[in-house]
Amino acid sequence: ALPQKNGRSVQCYSETLEAQQRHRLHVLQALRGATERGEMSLVFQPKLRLSDQRITGAEALLRWHHPDLGHISPGMFIPLAEASGDIFSIGEWVLEEAIRTIVDWRQKNVLGDDFHIAVNVAARQLARKDFAESVLRQLEDHQIPARFFAIEVTESGLMSDMQNARQQLAQFTQANIAVAIDDFGTGHSSLAYIKTLPFSTLKIDRAFVMDLEESDVERQLARTIAQLAHSVGSDVVAEGIETAYQAMYLRGIGCETAQGYYFSRPLPASEFLAWCDNWQPHLPPKATETV
Ligand code: C2E
Ligand code: MG
Ligand code: MG
Ligand code: MG
Repeated sequence: ALPQKNGRSVQCYSETLEAQQRHRLHVLQALRGATERGEMSLVFQPKLRLSDQRITGAEALLRWHHPDLGHISPGMFIPLAEASGDIFSIGEWVLEEAIRTIVDWRQKNVLGDDFHIAVNVAARQLARKDFAESVLRQLEDHQIPARFFAIEVTESGLMSDMQNARQQLAQFTQANIAVAIDDFGTGHSSLAYIKTLPFSTLKIDRAFVMDLEESDVERQLARTIAQLAHSVGSDVVAEGIETAYQAMYLRGIGCETAQGYYFSRPLPASEFLAWCDNWQPHLPPKATETV
């Protein structure tokens, strides 16, 4: 609301702003050492190949529960951690935890030969010149073949230092590690730039999935993005799928992989394994599709 003359809403307005800033400050202070105090964990959201609805991987997503502040979403604290530099230690922790999980699941023999865990990488992590090298070394140390691991980077994360980003991503793709451009279509990147980046996968943002059923424009837009991705030789993952209609439409336009609450929410590791055990494909066969 706009400030009013009597000063009342002005006061309310500045109070909320102040409260917000206080909260951000608390979060920032609490962030330091959160991993060491055991407040963070990873959850895993399954990725499904749409052609046969097999589980082909999982995205690792960070969760933070602070004893006083409660649950804080990564959408809120990751940008703060990037600004403060805490992202480096948090990112390290995420990587170690993801690697630990890959080792564990391989030992338990639950990972087929065709299953990866994907980790989100923040812009500032990628900006480090030795980032790819250090990740590759850690994978090697644990004798993890490239196909079990993948990274996701957002468009905006690539734009600040394109040349270094290109170099880092090239090291991953040369090592046969899948690189996904996350939240595709929501950033400010130009297609000309995107074309020059080494990546294997484009993740269509949820924003292009949400309204598929309601609008023909949205359907054409999704179709165009998928065509664009395929035209540069990339696979397409759609995120944020919440309905059978969305899954079937995206399958119809050639999207290879799907992720979203319709299949499963992100789950703690043990629940993830149980979910995989119980998973039954339930989309109708492709022949009945009307696109
Ligand atoms: P993202 O990488 O695009 O992850 C997808 C987000 O969409 C996740 O939110 C996921 O829980 C949510 N999601 C998945 N399916 C659905 C659905 O069907 N409907 C809806 N409404 N949402 C769905 P989350 O876990 O809150 O993460 C938000 C963002 O925070 C991520 O977006 C990613 O950019 C960042 N993030 C999360 N974990 C990490 C991490 O370990 N490192 C870094 N650098 N960033 C992370
Ligand atoms: Mg992601
Ligand atoms: Mg995404
Ligand atoms: Mg997203």
